[in-house]
Amino acid sequence: MPFTLRENNGQNVTVRVGPTWKADPSPLELAKLLNFVSPDENIANKDYDLVIVGGGPAGMSTAISGAGLGLTTLVLEDDAVGGQAGTSINRIDNHYGFPGGVAASDLVQRGLNQTFNLDAHVLPGLRATKIEQLATPASRRFRVHWHAEGEQPAVVTAGIVVVASGRVPRRVIPKDGSGANNEDKYADRGLYYDAVLADADATVRGKRIAIVGAGDTAGRAAVMFAQHGAGVTMVVRGEFSMGTALKKQIDELMQRKLIVLKQPYDVVDFAGDDTHLTQIKIKHKDARPESLDVDRVYALIGGVPSTTWLNDLDVRFGNKLLDKKRFIRTEQPNEVFATPLPMQTVVPGLFAIGDVRSLASCSASPKPPGKEPPSQCRSTCT
Ligand SMILES: Cc1cc2nc3c(=O)[nH]c(=O)nc-3n(C[C@H](O)[C@H](O)[C@H](O)COP(=O)(O)OP(=O)(O)OC[C@H]3O[C@@H](n4cnc5c(N)ncnc54)[C@H](O)[C@@H]3O)c2cc1C
Repeated sequence: MPFTLRENNGQNVTVRVGPTWKADPSPLELAKLLNFVSPDENIANKDYDLVIVGGGPAGMSTAISGAGLGLTTLVLEDDAVGGQAGTSINRIDNHYGFPGGVAASDLVQRGLNQTFNLDAHVLPGLRATKIEQLATPASRRFRVHWHAEGEQPAVVTAGIVVVASGRVPRRVIPKDGSGANNEDKYADRGLYYDAVLADADATVRGKRIAIVGAGDTAGRAAVMFAQHGAGVTMVVRGEFSMGTALKKQIDELMQRKLIVLKQPYDVVDFAGDDTHLTQIKIKHKDARPESLDVDRVYALIGGVPSTTWLNDLDVRFGNKLLDKKRFIRTEQPNEVFATPLPMQTVVPGLFAIGDVRSLASCSASPKPPGKEPPSQCRSTCT
């Protein structure tokens, strides 16, 4: 269905789908407008065979398999469908069936069409907040609590739950209570945790952009913005961890003064006005903090597992669901299957897949035996 986006003041959007105009729709409202789900459909209290938490590559492939087997299937997606693949600036280059690679956005669109054809419900803008297991001698079912912007918290029930909640971006300054640093205040107001191709449009020329990070993702973003005429500063805390070809490109751009490097530097504060980030404070360990004027900052420093919402379940199962770094342990025996099924967790009927798994291969595509996961994953995956 054709739709129009109108940006009002850089903050709000009005969307037109067919004859209907809607100001600032939530992701769920947008999904309903676009007919991803019927406008009157109320999934609260519905019962599904399979509920999947997370609509990234892992969750969406699971939905296709589950719905293809005839299971009534629901995908709860906190944000937009596609996960990290949907916000990746590069092509997915090792996916089965795409010998020349595939643009992440294309892969996401194809997957979405496939789930619709199979009648799976895929709902963006719904965050799972808790899972309870209702165990009776006759049946074991799950109650999955969810919340959507502008809606009352609600639950759905399921026979099987697959957690595919991946990772959330790592914060620049850990939340340890040591003073205000305004990181939350400027998130999405000049501070971003992913860089997509669309960010490097014509408006980027002459802008002052700081990239925090030293891996492949940070490196690709730095190259992309520098090539589009932005003034790029890379703020690197430790060593570079990107591939050699990419590092060579960064070195060349540094020689041409299109990228400035601050290494080893930490970001220690964010500052600006009420609506937008305008400055960051960066610090060399042996020096006083210095200010850097910025138009945008991209913090591309990997992620941590999105599992805080599973803490209660972890406690109920003797802290055996999550590992020390809060990834989900799989291939675990449980009280129903002593010999573990693939992806099985310690909670009977609960499975985990994708980047949220402990020691996951960190890849949208199966990893060839003996091959290292992409370097952007290595630091967070083990
Ligand atoms: C820049 C970049 C380039 C990459 N390039 C490649 C590549 O070329 N080849 C490759 O194989 N891999 C690549 N990867 C890695 C690949 O994108 C990830 O391995 C893959 O996205 C993991 O999929 P996932 O579904 O497990 O998790 P994610 O993609 O992280 O998706 C998880 C989803 O769950 C949602 N979610 C989280 N918590 C909740 C909740 N409580 N309720 C509801 N929803 C929730 C999130 O919003 C998210 O959409 C790249 C990654 C990046 C960042």
